[in-house]
Amino acid sequence: MMLPDELSSLYQEVILDHNRSPRNYGKLDAPTHVAEGFNPLCGDQLELYLRVRDDGTIEDVRFEGKGCAISRASASLMTEEIKGKSLAEARDLFSKFHSAVTSDSDRMVDTGELGKLVVLLGVRQFPTRVKCATLAWHTLEQALNGGGRVTTE
Ligand code: ZN
Repeated sequence: MMLPDELSSLYQEVILDHNRSPRNYGKLDAPTHVAEGFNPLCGDQLELYLRVRDDGTIEDVRFEGKGCAISRASASLMTEEIKGKSLAEARDLFSKFHSAVTSDSDRMVDTGELGKLVVLLGVRQFPTRVKCATLAWHTLEQALNGGGRVTTE
């Protein structure tokens, strides 16, 4: 399914809005997990901070970084989507988002499962931008797997 043009421009608006005013932006007090992500192809860079409770709920998540509109909007949308979710739910969402965003651009996607992340599906037509859209998620994975630095190359 190709996105109708009017939807695409609505999605563009959402991306630009999150780039201009990223949600959950800034450092987080007393994080339990931290990681840094870098996408050398585009120059995107971000730090991700999470506070995960003992029961595995993501209590809070924030990020800082610089890069293109897609990478910043994706990080902002990710923080909104995973806050309050369990780690298992967050990993499940990443796996659904990853398979959707790396699928052929004419493939039908179950958009209901993706929440707000659906606005990023336009990058399917631009394979190099997929790394911009998934950087925050790879950084999340790195943070949960012990922290440090991850690059998309
Ligand atoms: Zn980028």
